[in-house]
Amino acid sequence: MSEIKLVDMEDDKWRDAGLEKGEHWRTMKVYKCHICGCLTNHFWMFSPSWRAPRVFCPGRTSKQNLHDLLQEKVDNLSERKHPRSYLEDLKNEIEEIRKQFRDIPSDVEMIGDDWKNQQCFSYWP
Ligand SMILES: [Zn+2]
Repeated sequence: MSEIKLVDMEDDKWRDAGLEKGEHWRTMKVYKCHICGCLTNHFWMFSPSWRAPRVFCPGRTSKQNLHDLLQEKVDNLSERKHPRSYLEDLKNEIEEIRKQFRDIPSDVEMIGDDWKNQQCFSYWP
């Protein structure tokens, strides 16, 4: 396996880092998953036909893959066809799932511990 790169995501600098399709790397800042709120500097190159950096969420590697479960519920919430009572139940369910993420440790490597005193960022590809 090739060496893991440390990449600066600011100003699209990743484009010059020679990242391959499917490659995993670490970023110089810590990002917060916008679905479940887990913290990580682990990214990977999602690549159906184009290259798009994605956060590799620690919630996705947890036993029950909580991230995907929550994503499904959040996506479902934005569908307008559901009756109000169903939406209320769904919201409660989402709150309950979000609580479980507090037990998932952050996945941060290669940048020391200073990030703990700094702001975490959202990444929107
Ligand atoms: Zn997540």
